[in-house]
Amino acid sequence: MFDALIKRRKQTNLIEKVDRGIYAIDQMWTGNPKFSSCYLIEGDKIALFDTGLTIVVDRVLDSVEKIGYSPEDISYLIFSHIHCDHAGGAGSLCKNYPHLKVFAHEKGVPHLANPERLYKSMKKVFGDNAEKLYGNVIPVPEHRLHPLKDGEIIGLGKDRKLKVFHTPGHASHHLSLYDEKNKVLFAGEALGIYFPEVNVYFPSTPPPEFNLKEAVDSIRRLEKLEMRKVFFTHFGPAKNPQFAIQRSKEMLIDWGGIINEAMNESNDKSYISGRLFEEALKCIDHIKNDPEKYNKYKALIEFRSNFTCGPGYVRYFKKGGQVL
Ligand SMILES: [Zn+2]
Repeated sequence: MFDALIKRRKQTNLIEKVDRGIYAIDQMWTGNPKFSSCYLIEGDKIALFDTGLTIVVDRVLDSVEKIGYSPEDISYLIFSHIHCDHAGGAGSLCKNYPHLKVFAHEKGVPHLANPERLYKSMKKVFGDNAEKLYGNVIPVPEHRLHPLKDGEIIGLGKDRKLKVFHTPGHASHHLSLYDEKNKVLFAGEALGIYFPEVNVYFPSTPPPEFNLKEAVDSIRRLEKLEMRKVFFTHFGPAKNPQFAIQRSKEMLIDWGGIINEAMNESNDKSYISGRLFEEALKCIDHIKNDPEKYNKYKALIEFRSNFTCGPGYVRYFKKGGQVL
């Protein structure tokens, strides 16, 4: 299954201008286009929101140069959360570019300074495939780290202010950024995942920290914001922000019901993940007549049901979490 995911595919255009002064950069993680992005945000200062793993940062910096900046022009790295697919490359970027300042939620900052625990928990989930999927992760020197709190503003100059929304759920230290003037939201993974190629939304609920109640509460805060555009880290801008938010919330709640029911029926992990896989597969019914595309997304959905989404819900309920 891992090999199907890692297969190198034809390289597509890696840069998309998604709004005035905002570029989505495709990380081409695991060789798959349109799965993981980061954002270059222009102001008087330049920021990158999420960077991806050590194994993709060179590719990301190539795109930064194609947009017209050198790595030295970037002032800030801001992370939606510190999972390795978002912040794994932070340490190596800091090593090569000593001027960079690194921002993350205050609960995530200690893990950037000491990534060992994070890497261990990833090894637990992905086993020997962790290295292949995630590469190496090195610490960010503490003096480069800037902890963020809910409500703080990161100023990139007079025309660009990014307000921090602490959006726990996917992880306790997750944050989203809201540009109030331009009415755009950088959601990170707070709304889950969006596959633009097939127009599918998909919850992202990994162990050990996923918390359904917090995830839904976070979305309820975000849905109150006036929004022209919403940007997912996985992947890119969604077509309709209001629809994206409602759909993400509904699916999170529905899947909770399915897993909870499956846990009442059986203790068998593969049965429980299998029930989720069966339900999640319905998301791609509309591409059944395109076997290549269907099989690609089926593999992704199977992977996520077994390794991240299923186990994340199970752990939440075992810790006493409630259905909603
Ligand atoms: Zn992620």
